[in-house]
Amino acid sequence: MNNHLIFQKIIKREISSNILYQDQIVTAFEDINPKAPIHILIVPNDFIKTANDINQKNQNIIAHMFCIAIKMAKEKKISKDGYKIIINCNKNGGQEINYLHMHLLGGIKLKTLY
Ligand code: AMP
Repeated sequence: MNNHLIFQKIIKREISSNILYQDQIVTAFEDINPKAPIHILIVPNDFIKTANDINQKNQNIIAHMFCIAIKMAKEKKISKDGYKIIINCNKNGGQEINYLHMHLLGGIKLKTLY
């Protein structure tokens, strides 16, 4: 199956996942293979493939994803010490799942790429 269907099935609760937050626009759930003590994925409920597909029409969805990521950071009590929000795009960006998602990572001192 095309791997973007995994996230669609999580959003529709057709496969099990630890969903932490859901509204009409986004869903946030725990990453199955966490790279940090806190590793949450925030995804739009309506399919967007990559960051390249963000545009003026759907930019409000991206803003909402940021708001929910920050809400999650506060709820998980990592906002004071800090966190990373990452969006990987395509092959060179390390995107494995072809469904736009934001990684919220925290709970440990994270390495910087630059
Ligand atoms: P990316 O490399 O940016 O595409 O990240 C994909 C992320 O999705 C990885 O961190 C995976 O661990 C995570 N992932 C893959 N399948 C699942 C799943 N069924 N439930 C939760 N997270 C998943």
